[in-house]
Amino acid sequence: MLSAVTLVGVIGEYVASGDTQLLLANGGWTASALAAVIGVTAATRRSARPDRAGWALLLCGCVAWLVGKLLWNAYSATSFPPSPNPADICWLAFAVAGAAGVHRLCRGASRSLGISLLEVAPLIAAVSALLVALLTNDLRTSRLSGAGQVTSIAYPIFYVSAALVMSQAVIAGALDLRRNHGMVAMLGGLVLTAIGFILWSPQLLTGTYKVGANAVDALWSVSMILIGVGAWASGPAIARAEAEPVSRRRDGALPALTFVILAGVQIALNAGEGGAALALSVGLSIVGVTLIAHAAVLRRHQAELFAQLLARERELRDVNSLLRQQSRTDALTGLANRLRLREDFADLAARAKRYGQGYCLVLIDLDHFKDYNDDHGHQAGDLVLAQIADRLNETMRESDRAYRYGGEELLLILRDQGLDAGRALAERHRARAQRAALPHSLNTPHGVVTLSAGVAAAQPGETPEQVLRRADEALYEAKALGRNRIAVADPAMAPSHPAASALSDTSEQAPSPAG
Ligand code: GH3
Ligand code: MG
Ligand code: MG
Repeated sequence: MLSAVTLVGVIGEYVASGDTQLLLANGGWTASALAAVIGVTAATRRSARPDRAGWALLLCGCVAWLVGKLLWNAYSATSFPPSPNPADICWLAFAVAGAAGVHRLCRGASRSLGISLLEVAPLIAAVSALLVALLTNDLRTSRLSGAGQVTSIAYPIFYVSAALVMSQAVIAGALDLRRNHGMVAMLGGLVLTAIGFILWSPQLLTGTYKVGANAVDALWSVSMILIGVGAWASGPAIARAEAEPVSRRRDGALPALTFVILAGVQIALNAGEGGAALALSVGLSIVGVTLIAHAAVLRRHQAELFAQLLARERELRDVNSLLRQQSRTDALTGLANRLRLREDFADLAARAKRYGQGYCLVLIDLDHFKDYNDDHGHQAGDLVLAQIADRLNETMRESDRAYRYGGEELLLILRDQGLDAGRALAERHRARAQRAALPHSLNTPHGVVTLSAGVAAAQPGETPEQVLRRADEALYEAKALGRNRIAVADPAMAPSHPAASALSDTSEQAPSPAG
């Protein structure tokens, strides 16, 4: 309906004359302003919470435009006050609120909001310089006051800036127009308004503007209809792509455009426009300052990203070392596990070969532990196992390590130690376990938890696996001799020993433990 009224007004003002022309023009403009307010109100109402602030700002802009229009209607009936008058302020406010609203709607790219503003600022400065350069002649001959001239030139600058801010959101990917035809219409409306003000500004400066005498009036009405209908069609959901903080899409386009426009100012300058020189230097200064600020912001952003990267790397290293530690630890006893044993055997073998370093292995096995489980339950068995493991661990030297070799078999590696030291240590643990007096009635004749151990010391040329096999054989002997005792493997039985029997096994495989 409002569009139809606007159309009648727009066409009517070009064919009618006198008071009728003014009435039709004002009617058309007012109807289109009302259409914009209604369209944006509908979009604001339908919008979800995060988008509402952006739409509300746009609505403020449209209301300001409508108020400006109503004031203009009142001035038409009385007289037009000199610029800047309240209507001028209202229309300029539309550009500011409109640009702020669009920016707010692109909140998805909020991290890069400052950067995108710094990117678009040089372009705005260049366009402003070009506009001032082009209007220099009109400014020189204008009979308007200084404030009036500033207002006249502020119109195209403000509206072009608003259109550029919206275009920037599209280029940066914060607004995805492919999925939002309503937004396309709104952007079109904003661009048309800017064109309207570019055409209007010289007429305002020279006092030649006449209602219905040029295309400007139609542009404003059509643009407001586009904004209203576009907002209506946009609905609550603005298609928004998450823009990158430093978008590759913005790499060349904006700076290139900025310098093309500045080249335009230069051409105007060479054509003898005096004011263009000032416009060019002011424009260039703003471009320079914003480019420096832009670079500084990007550098800070880069530094933040780098710091984040370093922190993540540190975290990752910590987690990795924790995982490495956990994957080599037995969950029940907290002792080293078989994976760790394999690595340490490789290390032992290498050191024995390179430096001739000796070591001693003690293989410990709990006596009649199956019976303990049967008598007290598995959970009680677990506790006993963990308790004995704790005591072993407490007494280990820095260079030595205790492992959970199998179910209830524990292994000690004693570096740089021989049979006597191994036997003494094993004996201490045996006596300690017995003294702990954990009741085990089925372990006759002791009646408490006891352990047996086999001790073997590495002989020159012997592998850790071979030493372990001999410790296992010694453990078997301790069991056979009645348990709760320590048995020592005979070094002469080492496969590398000259006295070793022909039966010596040179297998590299870890033997299955006794018990
Ligand atoms: P021996 O004196 O000959 O070593 O007798 P044993 O019963 O200890 O020997 P065997 O190897 O036949 O049984 C070992 C038992 O240890 C079997 C199992 O019930 C127990 N065992 C192995 N691992 C665990 C464990 O993690 N928790 C508990 N509670 N028991 C375990
Ligand atoms: Mg056992
Ligand atoms: Mg066993």
